[in-house]
Amino acid sequence: MKQKNHKEKNSGTAAVAANSVAGDGGSRKLVITLIIISAVIAVIAAAVFIGEETNLFWKLRDRFDRKSVELVTVSPKTEKKELEELLERGNTVYDESLMLINSSNRIADGFSPDVSEYNDSGVIMNNAIKDAYRTRADHVKEMYGNRRYVMSAYRTAEEQEEAVKTEGDKAAKPGESEHQAGLALDVYISQYAGGGFIDSDVGKYVNSHCDRYGFIIRYPYWGSKVTGFAYEPWHIRYVGYPHAGIIMSNMITLEEYIEMLEPGVFYSFGDYIISRQKNDDLRVPSEYESLVISPDNTGYLILTALVNTADK
Ligand SMILES: [Zn+2]
Repeated sequence: MKQKNHKEKNSGTAAVAANSVAGDGGSRKLVITLIIISAVIAVIAAAVFIGEETNLFWKLRDRFDRKSVELVTVSPKTEKKELEELLERGNTVYDESLMLINSSNRIADGFSPDVSEYNDSGVIMNNAIKDAYRTRADHVKEMYGNRRYVMSAYRTAEEQEEAVKTEGDKAAKPGESEHQAGLALDVYISQYAGGGFIDSDVGKYVNSHCDRYGFIIRYPYWGSKVTGFAYEPWHIRYVGYPHAGIIMSNMITLEEYIEMLEPGVFYSFGDYIISRQKNDDLRVPSEYESLVISPDNTGYLILTALVNTADK
């Protein structure tokens, strides 16, 4: 009887009860049951606390069933070239599409981005993204009959400063925002802006298929630890082909992708050869159909060559 009272008194404290009732089969079962119940409650609580991102995962899950993809290291025939020499070729473009901009890789002082107004819309964006933006906007309109709007595209340092004043930590500091390079677009449709964008069909489509147009979700729900930003379903960033597809399919961030590209190595992906190189020691594939060269803002240039597929 004394033992029983002792048990009841301690039944709320699983660990203590486990010690004091050692050898008592029934009590041990009770303790184990309590531990299991506590564990289940803890898991449910954690799921609720992880909250938004977990929900977003489920919202997107049926539309985001990607298989991861691999870059293959290759040794193509190459030649050493000066950047200026390459840019004289008609099939070679220099743009800013792969600039990594964050708190560790700030925009250089005096950087003047390659931006201009999109179709008399009053929206200023990087020239590298205009075609991709147009294609995607047209598709969305065709599919959903919805017009998508751009809330914010290019921002000056002063405008970024204003954004920090109104949004606090949620906005990147001046010099650390890719809006200042005109490479990011904050998009929305009527009644579905900001975090609510993902609740719309258009938002779900954009978040799971933007790489078809060369865009990535720059602050994806899987990347908060790396980017330092919570999921932003409305902030899309142009990186071009085939980079967008590689990043989204592997569910990584731009930070991780650039880190993955070892300097001087040539990678093959589909019809493309990708290589991250030092500005003063450029090697390019001897033959290519077209080439895009972009600084990555970490001290390297990233070369993306569409290779001659007819020879394969
Ligand atoms: Zn944004």
